[in-house]
Amino acid sequence: MSASPPQTSANSDLHAEVLVLGAGPGGYTAAFRAADLGKRVVLVERYPTLGGVCLNVGCIPSKALLHLAKVIHEAEECSAFGVKFGKPEVVLNDIRVWRDQVVGTLTSGLAALVKQRKVTVVQGHAKFISDKVVQVESGGSSRNVSFENAIIAAGSQSSKIPGFPYDDPRVMDSTDALALQDIPKRLLIVGGGIIGLEMATVYQALGSAITVVELMDQLIPGCDQDLVKPLHQRIKKQYENIYLKTKVSRIEARSEGLRAFFEGEGAPESDSFDRVLVAVGRKPNGRLIGAEAAGIQINDAGFIPVDHKQRTNVPHIYAIGDIVGNPMLAHKATHEGKVAAEVIAGLPTAFQALGIPSVAYTDPEIAWMGLTETQARSQGIEYAKAVFPWAASGRSLGIGRKEGLTKILCDKNSKRIVGAGITGSNAGELIAETMLALEMGADAEDVGLTIHPHPTLSETVAFAAEMIEGTITDLYVKK
Ligand code: FAD
Ligand code: NAD
Repeated sequence: MSASPPQTSANSDLHAEVLVLGAGPGGYTAAFRAADLGKRVVLVERYPTLGGVCLNVGCIPSKALLHLAKVIHEAEECSAFGVKFGKPEVVLNDIRVWRDQVVGTLTSGLAALVKQRKVTVVQGHAKFISDKVVQVESGGSSRNVSFENAIIAAGSQSSKIPGFPYDDPRVMDSTDALALQDIPKRLLIVGGGIIGLEMATVYQALGSAITVVELMDQLIPGCDQDLVKPLHQRIKKQYENIYLKTKVSRIEARSEGLRAFFEGEGAPESDSFDRVLVAVGRKPNGRLIGAEAAGIQINDAGFIPVDHKQRTNVPHIYAIGDIVGNPMLAHKATHEGKVAAEVIAGLPTAFQALGIPSVAYTDPEIAWMGLTETQARSQGIEYAKAVFPWAASGRSLGIGRKEGLTKILCDKNSKRIVGAGITGSNAGELIAETMLALEMGADAEDVGLTIHPHPTLSETVAFAAEMIEGTITDLYVKK
């Protein structure tokens, strides 16, 4: 493994053993792992700040704002338990400052890690000009970086519905919504997926009246309906409207508001809103990097197909993260980044995760992993199932939130854990235990016999496992 300084060659300004295109969670993880394995790494990022969507305009700022929403609701709900707080005073500018501090701490931490690992960062927009060189343009000038291996980690961007008046600043994508320009009186959210519902949680807590429009017949399609139901039941009381099986056919930008026209069940013909958030998915940046000049295949959706070693059709060019396919999640990107770096360094690695957990950080949170019931039914997979209702958990009652549930799916014969879903407070933290069970090949007995601390929400995982085994005593389950 070489540790020589970056070399300059005749037809390029800079040479990399490993060139990483994009400094999101996939890219910076790949760059750091490759550097730790002794490779000379050049990391190219178009923005001055590292961290990509996740740190700057995704996971991190959204979770900081969701924390405020949680505190506001918990304070309100305490009044039913004998502690009354006044109406919260929302100081938007202070919220923005705090959000930026959280993001800034992480992004400046990344900048320090880059220095410690001696990764060379080149700022500018990169595109391949061959399968050996990328051209990086910045502020009117350009430089070439030649490479032995490349890892593409250029991420994704918000999808748009054609014909909406995007030049009107009241029509927002997730980045605009996180900017918190103001708290609109009436906010329309197009798309009842994870981004739509997380941002709805934030804006509702800060005072907006929310309308959600979802094309499919349930919120968060792809997640089992029983897990989504407690969330839907809670937010239908909090929000102005939730329209399922509905689409927004057009939006007229009028001076008094944005007039949205609906087509679907139960929705009026039109309604007026102060702002609209369009959150109908994300599309990969596969077509924005000059991939064709390197001979890299891109599919119709704009994703770059890769094998289990993250290799594209060009053997020394790898791709990771949102740009290679769903689910578009930071923790998938980071794991793929490590695989690509390790394969380049000659380690016997592959992406072989048995599951990738998904979490909606709504209130209640919804988390799931592995096989879903919807998938099992559609694929004809037989399974054993247990659902532990949080109404029977002392801890859940103690926090005043008994609507949750913990569901475990097991292989019908071996009773190995094959899937799990949790709805309730901290479901995103609790799902990690079931992921470990899946990866370790644990069965329901292993989980049920593992002593969980009492009283905790984590006990609900063990209780669900005991229900599979028929050993539960905290509930009466008829044989
Ligand atoms: P990105 O993070 O998209 O990074 C790609 C980088 O490449 C960017 O910095 C971009 O500027 C750069 N780039 C692109 N093209 C070029 C080019 N030609 N030249 C130079 N640089 C280029 N995921 C979770 O797991 N948990 C969450 O809670 C979560 N919350 C989210 C909330 C929101 C609002 C959004 C929008 C997303 C959220 N996600 C979440 C998804 C998560 O952000 C992405 O899955 C993750 O950032 C993907 O990482 P990546 O490295 O593939 O790409
Ligand atoms: P999504 O695919 O999760 O949800 C989009 C929703 O919009 C879907 O329910 C879809 O049916 C609906 N939709 C599509 N077209 C529509 C239309 N014309 N009218 C009404 N509804 C329509 O996408 P997202 O919420 O935009 O999130 C994008 C990506 O970011 C996802 O892949 C997600 O995994 C990731 N993300 C993850 C987290 C997290 O892990 N907590 C948070 C935010 C984003």
